[in-house]
Amino acid sequence: MRIIQRAGVSAKDRDLALKWVKRCLREITRKDYELPVDYGEARNDLLVTVKRAGHRSSACAKGITIDISAYTKGSSALLEYPAFAHDPVIGSRNAITPELVLAGTIAHEISHFVQYRYGPNTRWLKKRYRKPHGEGFRDIYRILRSKVVNPYLQDV
Ligand SMILES: [Zn+2]
Repeated sequence: MRIIQRAGVSAKDRDLALKWVKRCLREITRKDYELPVDYGEARNDLLVTVKRAGHRSSACAKGITIDISAYTKGSSALLEYPAFAHDPVIGSRNAITPELVLAGTIAHEISHFVQYRYGPNTRWLKKRYRKPHGEGFRDIYRILRSKVVNPYLQDV
């Protein structure tokens, strides 16, 4: 994993983001999900940029860019893409801790990385990985939300 830490990001906050990145990668590279890489390879493939600029987070086949501004401002709302904002598993969540807002954002961006990087070579993603927030993305994100993030969310 290559890590780029932009100005204004503390080592502590960077490490917190990396903790969730690793949890997501470790889950999605379990054999059951049939990705063409194991955890070590996926780690090597991933470039993580952590910034604090008040921008959106983003991802591509090379890696993810996480903007931690929502976390450092103490945000309690994980706002999801409108098409699935009301989904009970992958939808928006309110009244959660800032760390879990960050965790949800990271799970979302890791899902994009996985779809673009491994979608073409993964049997169950091959035909549906292309749309940014399409079926393939949602299937990956559903795994990461339900296994990595949602267990920490309290029902409110
Ligand atoms: Zn997205």
